[in-house]
Amino acid sequence: MNLQTAVGETPEAGNAAGEALAAETLLALTGAALGAAETLLAAAKSHVAGRVRSGERVSGRALDAAQFAGHGLAWAATYVESLRQMRAWAERLAAEDRFGEMERLILQIAYGEYLAQLAGGIPMSQAEIARPQDMGLGAAEIAAFRTEETERLIAAGTDDAVRQRLVALMRAQSGAASFGDTGLDEELDMVRDQFRRFADERVVPHAHGWHLRDELIPMEILEEMSALGVFGLTIPEEHGGFGMGKTAMCVVSEELSRGYIGVGSLGTRTEIAAELILGGGTEAQKAHWLPKLASGEILPTAVFTEPNTGSDLGALRTRAARDGDDWVLTGNKTWITHAARTDLMTVLARTDPETSDYRGLSMFLAEKTRGTDDDPFPDATIAGGEIEVLGYRGMKEYTLALDGHRVPAAALLGGEAGQGFKQLMRTFESARIQTAARAIGVAQAALEAGLAYAEERSAFGRPIVAFPRVGAKLAMAAVEIMVARQLTYHSAREKDADRRCDLEAGMAKLLGARVAWSTADCGLQIHGGNGFALEYPISRLLCDARILNIFEGAAEIQAQVIARRLLEAT
Ligand SMILES: Cc1cc2nc3c(=O)[nH]c(=O)nc-3n(C[C@H](O)[C@H](O)[C@H](O)COP(=O)(O)OP(=O)(O)OC[C@H]3O[C@@H](n4cnc5c(N)ncnc54)[C@H](O)[C@@H]3O)c2cc1C
Repeated sequence: MNLQTAVGETPEAGNAAGEALAAETLLALTGAALGAAETLLAAAKSHVAGRVRSGERVSGRALDAAQFAGHGLAWAATYVESLRQMRAWAERLAAEDRFGEMERLILQIAYGEYLAQLAGGIPMSQAEIARPQDMGLGAAEIAAFRTEETERLIAAGTDDAVRQRLVALMRAQSGAASFGDTGLDEELDMVRDQFRRFADERVVPHAHGWHLRDELIPMEILEEMSALGVFGLTIPEEHGGFGMGKTAMCVVSEELSRGYIGVGSLGTRTEIAAELILGGGTEAQKAHWLPKLASGEILPTAVFTEPNTGSDLGALRTRAARDGDDWVLTGNKTWITHAARTDLMTVLARTDPETSDYRGLSMFLAEKTRGTDDDPFPDATIAGGEIEVLGYRGMKEYTLALDGHRVPAAALLGGEAGQGFKQLMRTFESARIQTAARAIGVAQAALEAGLAYAEERSAFGRPIVAFPRVGAKLAMAAVEIMVARQLTYHSAREKDADRRCDLEAGMAKLLGARVAWSTADCGLQIHGGNGFALEYPISRLLCDARILNIFEGAAEIQAQVIARRLLEAT
């Protein structure tokens, strides 16, 4: 089929470029191309393994020296997993008669772009392109990847006429909750509708003001979120929660973050605290804390980072010393989100002074008196100072000085010292899935803002959305948001099925953060000079999107972790 850009015009027969592929053809081509991509990835993995493995083990030193190759491999694997999940999504939709034109175009463009980048170079950041030769792939291996099916999808998926057709469909559906069927069931669609309404009515009208005035999100909003069940969403029913799955958590996080990242992130701390307690807590700790977390009565905060220790958390220095029946916490923490208004700090501290790595760390459930605007840190043993930030406002970030802060023995998570790092690692899967969902929400907000502005703004006698360079930005954003969504939902389903999914969750977070940033940047570009004015919400979305590549595992650390896992499994 040849494409016409206006909705409703009749397609005609055409050649490969600019061709909208029929469902059956697409499913057949993507199946074959996915196989070729998997073969290419296996070859890349074997080359990189040859550089960084010594015997059965991955050498940390060798992987550090070969980071460009290793991180390139992590990105290539993320692309291949994305392609796999996009195809699985398409197959599920096709089986239910839901694989419409918009979904077909999204699949076609996703395959065209990601296959082309696998062959030519993947942007790990704006300045760093991971090329096949970085991973040791030779001309013959790249040629073998470029099969007839791969070539056809690259030609058909990267043609601008295809992107413009997608934009035409998006314009006809503006205001929809998503561009393209997310593939979720009716119950989750209802959850999305409920939180979309809440975000539109209670968050969107105020978010930009909270950001510009650098205010805490009003308690009234938190109370409404508690009543809607946000904080207890995934906590099991026997502990006072709703016992819903991680996919529901993704949908809620997306919609709240679409309203404002600060609101979408309020639940993150509860998610981390609840995962810590569920995974490592004693029965008494579960019984005491989980119902309070689920109801929103208790607002927790995550206290891990220190001034000299962020990515390398195992090296942290805050001490916890035993004194009779108590533990006494002393040390400096930084970047602690929502620290003033918290009631419960999950603090990672060193209990074994003889160690300098992750082995001597323990996790504490340390109570703190909730602060107010006038007195943010009422406890005599806790001092805090606000860090002024570009974006991700609404909860505020603080430095924290713990000066002999005393907690009872019962505050030690699980009642056993030395388990802190392991306990924290068990929460990474959920936290990264939730962060990926937050990224999707921010990206969706930026896409909606970009599309609305492109419709309203005219230049050279036309609405700017009619210019292909503007349209292409919007189309690519819609495609990549769907890719990030499918990768994130896949991780969530794996988590719900109790299967290990650190790799998948890391990939979802890695890609989601890049998509949020590129979509916010493109959305701002579409706003021209107005995008640079603080008055326009897109200026906030750019700042908010930027954090997603830094916390919950900076992009480089995420790639390193993914690379190590892939190579260990060789
Ligand atoms: C807005 C905001 C909110 C936050 N909220 C919290 C919170 O609530 N609780 C909390 O505990 N922490 C929080 N953090 C801290 C956050 O988790 C850390 O900033 C993050 O882990 C990175 O650590 P760092 O800032 O020390 O950077 P560093 O670890 O110093 O890294 C600096 C740069 O070097 C790169 N780098 C480091 N090591 C390597 C390597 N081995 N290979 C390649 N590159 C490397 C990093 O990727 C990064 O680009 C928050 C941070 C921000 C900005």
